[in-house]
Amino acid sequence: MFCPLVFKAFIRTTSLTLFPTTCKDITNRDWTVHMARAGFVHTPSENSPDVATCFFCLKELEGWEPEDDPEKEHKSHSSSCHFIALKKKVEDLTTEEFFKLQKERHKFIINKAGNEAIAKFEEAAKLRRVEIFKTAMGEE
Ligand SMILES: [Zn+2]
Repeated sequence: MFCPLVFKAFIRTTSLTLFPTTCKDITNRDWTVHMARAGFVHTPSENSPDVATCFFCLKELEGWEPEDDPEKEHKSHSSSCHFIALKKKVEDLTTEEFFKLQKERHKFIINKAGNEAIAKFEEAAKLRRVEIFKTAMGEE
C-alpha cells in the first residue's frame, strides 16, 4: 500500500479555501480530498487562484465549478496521464506503481521543459528575423 503520509501531503497542498464552496452537498474538506484523489495539488498563481496541477502528468486545470468531478475533468483533459490510466486511488498505489508514475512524471517534466525551450528559441528567432529584415530593407 502507498504511504498514507504522501496522500496527506497531497491534501495539505490543496487549498481548503479556494475551490468551489457553493455546493451544498460537499464541504471544502470533501472537495480537497476529492481533488487529491484525482491526483491534483493546488498550484495557484496571482492571476489563477484555483489552478490545480496533476502531480503526475502536470496537467493544469482551472475555473472549477461546484458540479465538476475532478477525476472526470482530469480524464477528459489529460488522456495520456498514467495515474488516471491506473484507475487507482492515490492512497491505494503500491510503492512500485508510485515509482513507475514518478518515472512517467519525469518524462512529462522533461517534455514540458523542452517545449518551453523550443518556444523561447522560436520567439527569439522570430524577433531576430524581423531585425534582419529591417536591416536588409535599410530601416536601421
Ligand atoms: Zn494527470
